[in-house]
Amino acid sequence: MSAISLRNVRRAYGDAFALDDVTFTADAGQVLALLGSSGSGKSTILRLIAGLEPVDAGEIRVEGELASRPGWSTPAEARRIGMVFQDYALFPHLTAAANVAFGLQNTTRAERESTALAWLDRVGLGMRSNAYPHELSGGEQQRVALARALAPAPRAILLDEPFSGLDPVLRAELRDATLTTLAETKTTTLFVTHDAEDALQAAEKLVILKAGRVLQEAAPREAYDRPASIEVAAALGPINLSEGRVEGGVVNTPFGPAPAQHLTNGASARIAVRAEAIRLSPGAGARVLSVRPHGAHDLVKIEAGGAIWRALVPPRTTLGETASVTLHSDGVFAFSA
Ligand code: ADP
Ligand code: MG
Repeated sequence: MSAISLRNVRRAYGDAFALDDVTFTADAGQVLALLGSSGSGKSTILRLIAGLEPVDAGEIRVEGELASRPGWSTPAEARRIGMVFQDYALFPHLTAAANVAFGLQNTTRAERESTALAWLDRVGLGMRSNAYPHELSGGEQQRVALARALAPAPRAILLDEPFSGLDPVLRAELRDATLTTLAETKTTTLFVTHDAEDALQAAEKLVILKAGRVLQEAAPREAYDRPASIEVAAALGPINLSEGRVEGGVVNTPFGPAPAQHLTNGASARIAVRAEAIRLSPGAGARVLSVRPHGAHDLVKIEAGGAIWRALVPPRTTLGETASVTLHSDGVFAFSA
């Protein structure tokens, strides 16, 4: 049984659809990322699952039970779903421990305190339990918010852009620590991000959104290797674009042939080529415009036939003024135009 499922969900504000026909499922214990640019409807999906807003069409189920459909909504508190908001929304006048204890019910004060301390320990903040939010760094506040959401043992947890306010080094560390905690507690997790790396690194399943619609629901590997559209390919990493007609099973780009056997000969096609699918070697074919360090790669700008593409190649690749280009088929995608 899926822990959370949305079927044909719609949500409109006035005349504008924020969500249109959204369908996806998260399995029990799974970490699912909702990936999309700003305004694509990610936060709206979380608010609907949490029961903070009604659906206009479709239905939402939590562990198989109907939670939302038009004219009917289980109250947020009855859903037992934890939420960590983008700004953490900690109570400023309460200590870290009191923030975590706040949502706990049906226990004595002493039990609430010991549960809160145990969760702060778990997220590595046992020593900071008496600190107030303003005395904590952004990363620490995020961990308090996570502890507060997990303490009541929710059926699922929703995280809205949990890592976006943090600097890049801390971000990867906190992301991995957060996901480790969630994996240990086997909590079904939906997290929202506009960052492809966060989604690819941290999630077991991706739901890629654009303008309130689901572009693709798939495991990270599958979405990366078999994107359903150019938009999905572009959402997951840097790509280069080309257009042309299919001839003899390929489309000729300025940098070489792109395989397109699945398309009809003569059809017009759009081609996406991942930056790391471009192999450069000594020779001719393309002009090398620039070579710059780019994380674990070098980013090389190449030009041919007036087109400029970006290639990610092994660092310190020695290149002359020109290079020979081959396109590795794993990262070349052809779609009918
Ligand atoms: P994301 O979190 O992906 O940035 P949102 O879910 O916040 O996107 O918003 C999706 C769309 O719905 C946007 O066009 C946004 O302007 C609109 N929207 C969200 N909340 C409201 C609201 N309360 N009233 C009117 N429009 C809203
Ligand atoms: Mg948002």
